[in-house]
Amino acid sequence: MGAERSAEILRRSRDIFPGGVNSPVRAFRGVGGDPVVAARGEGARIWDEDGREYIDYVLSWGPLVLGHAHPMVLDAVEAAMRMGTSFGMPTELELDLGELIRQRMPHVEMLRFVSSGTEATMSAVRLARAFTGRDAILKFDGCYHGHADSFLVRAGSGVATLGLPNSPGVPDSLAALTLTAPFNDLDATRAAVRSVNGGVAAIIVEPVVGNAGFILPADGFLSGLREIADESGALLVFDEVMTGFRIAPSGARERFGVTADLTTLGKVIGGGLPAAAYGGRREIMEQIAPAGPVYQAGTLSGNPLAMAAGYATLTALTRELHEKIARRTESLVTGLIGIADRVGAPFTAGSAGSMWGFFFHPGPVYDFESAKKSDIELFKRFYHAALERGVYLAPSAFEAGFVSAAHGDREVSETLNRLEDAMRAASA
Ligand code: PMP
Repeated sequence: MGAERSAEILRRSRDIFPGGVNSPVRAFRGVGGDPVVAARGEGARIWDEDGREYIDYVLSWGPLVLGHAHPMVLDAVEAAMRMGTSFGMPTELELDLGELIRQRMPHVEMLRFVSSGTEATMSAVRLARAFTGRDAILKFDGCYHGHADSFLVRAGSGVATLGLPNSPGVPDSLAALTLTAPFNDLDATRAAVRSVNGGVAAIIVEPVVGNAGFILPADGFLSGLREIADESGALLVFDEVMTGFRIAPSGARERFGVTADLTTLGKVIGGGLPAAAYGGRREIMEQIAPAGPVYQAGTLSGNPLAMAAGYATLTALTRELHEKIARRTESLVTGLIGIADRVGAPFTAGSAGSMWGFFFHPGPVYDFESAKKSDIELFKRFYHAALERGVYLAPSAFEAGFVSAAHGDREVSETLNRLEDAMRAASA
């Protein structure tokens, strides 16, 4: 088999989709070369349209915590599908998933399902603005909260990969309402919040950053944000679209002991189908229509197939299983640090639960500015060397990686063997 099928699919895709893709980072602009065209996935592995096999550490950008095509998820989706694919009516399936999420995250007293992380964060900000009667919000440089207008200011993920400071099409008057501060900098955060007459409606943060590469919060950073929010009357919003059910059996509250007023979720809660949610304190959530006046709606919200996939995923993801995946993630990261040491590459890496990442930088990396000082050219060479050896990593230096329940000890040691080779080749 040659590379004919992938090349032909990409050629035709470039004629119909901007950049050949339906989401920017997929185009491989961050690493150069042609994207991998996915044909099939099973467990920890994916196969492209030309039959090449890869061990997958992207996992659809986070949702597939059980791995590809997990039988429990497939069975649940099939059973739901046979009952009808969508109703636009209340169902027991959405209640089951909603209650399961609340059981694991009790501070999410009420929630609303939506279909994407973007919708969740966009709606949470509208709600925070309505609840506080304030317009300004504060986010952190390099954090990505979806592509709603208010968030495309100093954003991470694809916005960072493409080196776009802000996005055309966002009115200046709206962008001016989004303040930013460096991640892990409480003084700058406090100063920014105080600079706004009348205060900010929300401080929104990825509790562990995954969209500027993987960056942990310093001790006291999240509790410091809680204090700043309390003293200024702002709502604290934890965007857990990526970290939810990844950095702990539940999320940031369990890992860091800090409770947000509003939480946004996505990725894992849909088990690979489109589902996301925002939720939090009852008195705030009761402002959402039709309980209250803040409008937000969705034709496919609470879609039965997505609810079934999410419910099966969260049910299978027990505390024990989470710990097991977290240990394998740690051994992957420890192995990589050892490899970089032997090869003599500047390197820092870390993990939180089943989420991980690395920089070609001697460390520490604590914010977006330090992340940008990593060796991007070395990353690109390493990326392609890894790909050639059958390891699929996120195609950008500014994205996190993930591990699933299907990544056993065998996959991890196979990965480390391949990546040692790749790092030597890239550093030569
Ligand atoms: N928030 C965070 C923290 C994310 O990582 C993402 C997506 N990577 C989003 C929001 C947006 O989610 P979606 O792509 O489902 O709109």
